[in-house]
Amino acid sequence: MMKNNSHILANILPIFLLALSACAQIHPLTVIDAGHTPAEYGAVSCTNKMEVDYNDDLVAEISSELTRRNRNFFLTRTKCENINHADYLRKYLIDPLDDAIWQKHKDLYSRIALANEKQAGLFISIHHDSVQEHHLLRSKDGKIIDVQDDFKRKFGPGYTIYIASDPKYPDSEQNYPDSLRFARIFAEKMQSLGRKPSTYHEEKPDQNNYQSIDLPLGIYNSKSILAVLRNAKMPAVLIEAGVIVDSQDEAVISSRAFIDQFAVALAESIDAFFGQ
Ligand SMILES: [Zn+2]
Repeated sequence: MMKNNSHILANILPIFLLALSACAQIHPLTVIDAGHTPAEYGAVSCTNKMEVDYNDDLVAEISSELTRRNRNFFLTRTKCENINHADYLRKYLIDPLDDAIWQKHKDLYSRIALANEKQAGLFISIHHDSVQEHHLLRSKDGKIIDVQDDFKRKFGPGYTIYIASDPKYPDSEQNYPDSLRFARIFAEKMQSLGRKPSTYHEEKPDQNNYQSIDLPLGIYNSKSILAVLRNAKMPAVLIEAGVIVDSQDEAVISSRAFIDQFAVALAESIDAFFGQ
């Protein structure tokens, strides 16, 4: 009897271990980063709401959707929980930052340091966009009301996806094909929901910062502005979900329907990216 049992165990154990390792492989960690903090709140919308609040609301729903799907994920911060910027995280960055730069920007750099520490398989930073100052329509007291009419005529607001590739950062070069693959999966999901890519980046003055990779899908390489993505040791994207200074787009982005659809689209994209 004992002999039989151990024989069965010897047969089953390798299959069990194989299944376990397969599970581990198909559930790599995705780090979701809600951009900014209440102190460094990002852009301000045409309804006078801070970008960080839009980011937090969207990430809260993404978190619920990923939990429903039993997906392995980690949030760099939540509305209630500030970012962990402990000094030990600095060693997980690719950029060798001096003390002054780390102290000044640790709320930013610690996001990717956390993802590197956890050996994540994918990093996604969630933001909402503004536009160049000359396109803004402001009230007499300086509050943003909307974008100018000529902006509405010339450009369309929508989503943007950034990935980073820089020859000085071998990890970014190595992960570039996978970053682009994820960006394309997600962009196609956005477009199937009727979302359009933002079209105004092309006129930004410092074109060294913005290189379009796939204009119809709204995917850009940002060389110098995205310090976070450059330090990633895994495929990484930064998504601008919409344009919060455009009254029409702001209404869409704030709607419950959009937040739910975005969260499902992102979760499905993660599943597709990891081959599920
Ligand atoms: Zn932002």
